[in-house]
Amino acid sequence: MPKIDYNNLPVNYKTSVQSLEMGLWEKLYYPEIIRGLAITTWHFVRNMTVHTLHVFGLAKNRRGAVTYQYPEERRPLAKRLRGRHRLTKKEDGTERCTACMLCETICPCDCIYITPEEHSDPRVEKHPKEYQIDILRCCFCGYCVEACPCDAIRMDTQVMELSHWDRTRLVYDKKFLMEDIKTLGAPPEYAPPEWWLK
Ligand code: SF4
Ligand code: SF4
Repeated sequence: MPKIDYNNLPVNYKTSVQSLEMGLWEKLYYPEIIRGLAITTWHFVRNMTVHTLHVFGLAKNRRGAVTYQYPEERRPLAKRLRGRHRLTKKEDGTERCTACMLCETICPCDCIYITPEEHSDPRVEKHPKEYQIDILRCCFCGYCVEACPCDAIRMDTQVMELSHWDRTRLVYDKKFLMEDIKTLGAPPEYAPPEWWLK
């Protein structure tokens, strides 16, 4: 493997590796500890003051920091947020996807795998026999949604909890992608397995 000189990278910004270089002030240690405590104290006092003023109906135009008690309390998400994919359906419940392969072709992460087959309905040329997305590889660029000519794939589920105890469950198949989204958040089967709780 070639040795990389991180301090002389041909880029016009400071990389995170370069910014690890500490000056004398940081190396003295205590001044930075005191500075950190001062910042934390300032935010604590400011937020307490703002929230106390709000209780009395004052300073309504100033926002205090709010802690969301996740996962019981969820932060409102932007409507445009690209969450987990879903495959949309026709009125008869079948997939809209025509297995044109555009999404698979454009995907920069090579994480869509489609197996096309002829449709039993002669009016429809093809449909996906299997449609898989390896969500571990996905970078959520949204290209697949943009490329689709049939509005067959969307990322509007607002589902962001994509972790799992079993990596193999993170390759979503067609059945899973076509399921109706009933609730936000991780589905019940995502609870820790028994071997983990022991
Ligand atoms: S969002 Fe981007 S990376 Fe993810 S499946 Fe779609 S095209 Fe691929
Ligand atoms: S999801 Fe859309 S772009 Fe992808 S294969 Fe189906 S019809 Fe084509």
